[in-house]
Amino acid sequence: MHFYKLPVALLCLFISTSCSSLFANYEIRSKVISGVRYVYLIDVKEYYGMKSKVNGKVVSLYSADHSLTLTKDSRYAKVDGKVLDLGYVMLLRNNDYFIAEKDLRLSIDPVYRDWGLARRAVNTIVIDPGHGGKDPGSHGLKVYEKDMNLEIALQLKELLVKVGYSVALTRNNDKFIKLANRPTMYNADLFISVHTNASTAKSVNGIETYFLTPPGMKSTGHKRTYYTRQSGNKFDGLNTRLAHSIHSELIDNMSARDRGIKRARFQVLREAKCPAVLLELGYLSNPSEEKRLLGVRYREELVISIVRGIVAFEKAVAADELLATE
Ligand SMILES: [Zn+2]
Repeated sequence: MHFYKLPVALLCLFISTSCSSLFANYEIRSKVISGVRYVYLIDVKEYYGMKSKVNGKVVSLYSADHSLTLTKDSRYAKVDGKVLDLGYVMLLRNNDYFIAEKDLRLSIDPVYRDWGLARRAVNTIVIDPGHGGKDPGSHGLKVYEKDMNLEIALQLKELLVKVGYSVALTRNNDKFIKLANRPTMYNADLFISVHTNASTAKSVNGIETYFLTPPGMKSTGHKRTYYTRQSGNKFDGLNTRLAHSIHSELIDNMSARDRGIKRARFQVLREAKCPAVLLELGYLSNPSEEKRLLGVRYREELVISIVRGIVAFEKAVAADELLATE
C-alpha cells in the first residue's frame, strides 16, 4: 500500500480554502495494478468532498461544483458534464473502484482546482488555421478545410482583438506552412490550432478538442504508451484545463455533438512553447454540419464560445486569483 499525495503546496491551498483542518494530512491511497499506479476512487471522492452513486457499470461522483462519471473497464468519462477520454480504464477490484493516478493528476484535478494550476498571464494568442496552400486538408461538398479554417481563424482574431488580446496568425492567406514552423513562429501565451474534420461515414458529426498526451499516458484511440517528454509537456495540466475550458463553452453554446476532449501527439501540440489545443470544430463530410459551418452566424457563435473559453482559462490561471479567494 502506498499513499499518493497531491503536491504539498497545492494541498495547503486546498486546505486554506476548504476551511477544514481535517484535510491537513489527507492522503489518497494508491496501489500498482498491472504496472500502473492507481488511486482509490473513494479517497478521491472524499478529497473533493463529493457524493457518489453506482448504477451498473457507471459510477457518478458529484458535488455542488463538480461532477465525474466513470464506467468500469472503460476510458470513457465525463468531467463536469463534458466527455473526456481517460488515459486508463476505471477498475473495480475487490469491491474498490480505482482510477489511474495520472488521470487524477492530469485529466481531472486541472479541471477541478484552479489553485492547483501554474499561474500564467494571457496576453498574446497565436491562432493557427490548419493546412493551407498545397495542403487542402479535408473537404466537404462545397468547401476545402484550409479555407474554412482560415475563415474561422480570421473571425476569431477579430473578436479576440476586440476583447483586448494581442493576436498573431500563422497564416492569413492560402499559403502552405510546414507544421514544424507553426508552433515556433511567435512567442505567445496560448496556441490555438483551428481545424475542421472529415470522416468516410457521412453521418459522423460534432466537435472534439485535443491537447498533448502527457508522457506515460495513451493518446486517444492508441494502445501504445510513450514516455518521451516533448516541449509542450511543460504545460501538462494547463493544456488539460485550456482544452476543457474551450470545449465546455463550445458544447454548452453550440447545438453540436460532444465528441470529447482527447489527447494526441500532433506536431503542433508537441512542439508548442505555451499551453496549446487543437480544435476540430465540425465535420465538413457531414452535409448538414458543413452547411452550418458555411453560415457566418454559426461561425460567429463558434468564435464567441472559443473566446469565452479562453477568458475562463485566463481567469483560472490569473496571478491574482489566489489573493481573490483568500
Ligand atoms: Zn485538419
